[in-house]
Formats: sequence, structure tokens, C-alpha cells
Amino acid sequence: MTDPAPASQPTPTEADHTIAWTIETGDFPRGVVTCRAAVGADCRTWCTAGCDEHCPLEDPETGEPHPQADTGACLMVAGLNTGTWGRVEESYDGDKVTVHDGPISIRWSAFDEAYLWSYVTQVVQ
Ligand SMILES: [Zn+2]
Ligand SMILES: [Zn+2]
Repeated sequence: MTDPAPASQPTPTEADHTIAWTIETGDFPRGVVTCRAAVGADCRTWCTAGCDEHCPLEDPETGEPHPQADTGACLMVAGLNTGTWGRVEESYDGDKVTVHDGPISIRWSAFDEAYLWSYVTQVVQ
């Protein structure tokens, strides 16, 4: 990374996720998401209170926090790359743009019950 820092920095979590695309003869375009987040980052941690789906971080009724522990890998990237929520391009949720490599933002959609991603908009002034 030799580019000068943009005037508007993405949040650390957003900057940690990038997508890169390849295409080859007879295949669909393939987007592969990569995570560089540090151990203990939100995207690598999972509930130790027994949630087997997306953790609400606290008990909805009592407000008791659900402790989170690092799982050794990014949970969002693993799911996006293995098709847990469909093909990675189907999980795109952003403005109409040319498909390109770059930093992305990933968010949980309770409506879709899936992680959706969009490009991080970097405003350079
Ligand atoms: Zn939980
Ligand atoms: Zn991650």
C-alpha cells in the first residue's frame, strides 16, 4: 500500500475486507473476498453463549451480554466465499457500478438473513 491515505478513511473494519474478481474461459466471474482483520475483530468473533445463528450480542429479554470469542477466521468472508448466502455477486447491495476489485463493507441483513456487501466509497479530496 503506497497510495497516500484518502481524506476520508473507511473505518478499520471496512478497510479490512476486499474483493478481487477473476474470469476465465467457460466460467462465471468469480469474486473472492479477503479479510485482514486482526484477531479479536468483530468479524472473527462468535458468541460463546450458544447462539447457532447470528448473535444479537445480548439476550433480547434480559439484556445479558453474550460473550464473544475469536474463531480463528473471518466468519463473513468464509460464508461469502463458500456460497452460504448464494453467489457472492448475489450478496451485493449497493449502487449500480462497474464490477471492480477494492475494499468493501459487509453488513448483516436480518431481512435477507444473509451478509450483504457494497463497495467502500473513498472520497479523495
Ligand atoms: Zn449470542
Ligand atoms: Zn473479516
